[in-house]
Amino acid sequence: MDTVAAGVTQLRIQRFVNVYFVDAGTPGDWVLVDTGLPGSERAIRAAAAAELYGPGVGPQAIVLTHGHLDHLGAALELTTGWHVPVLVHSLERPYVTAQALHPPRDPTVGGSLAFMSRFFPTQLPDLRDVVQELPLDTDAVPFLMGWRWLHVPGHAPDQISLFRDAERTLLGGDAFATTDHDSVPAVLLE
Ligand SMILES: [Zn+2]
Repeated sequence: MDTVAAGVTQLRIQRFVNVYFVDAGTPGDWVLVDTGLPGSERAIRAAAAAELYGPGVGPQAIVLTHGHLDHLGAALELTTGWHVPVLVHSLERPYVTAQALHPPRDPTVGGSLAFMSRFFPTQLPDLRDVVQELPLDTDAVPFLMGWRWLHVPGHAPDQISLFRDAERTLLGGDAFATTDHDSVPAVLLE
């Protein structure tokens, strides 16, 4: 795990997917940003319990930067037990409630994630019981003091990034990538 900014810890799962543990601004409160692929819940819970917040201390909420499977994969499992809402952009609701599918990612556009996406299941988890839309009349992120969300469509129509003005910290989701996705070995081996 890496501390990428004050109160922001990055956990890389399955070599190419990042989730973030973000201190919420009041002691002991935190928010999970993205949840990795299905099956990531154990790694996320273990990291939060053992290294960050202590056993059994769940977040106030989960925020998804967008609804691709490598971001929402473990959301449903994590909310079972944590009993917290999953916050998404309103445009995202159909995709996280099994009402619509994102267009298939074109595996010929290059990049290893695009390549591997052909193996992702097309049926995504249904979060209808836990999902909440981000209010559109403010860019403040619920539960996260000092952070605001930015709509950055492109990679997905509903993609958001989270920005904290105080230190100009940006959690970009897939809007910006630090891994060289043009190289499958770089992603798989790093
Ligand atoms: Zn994505």
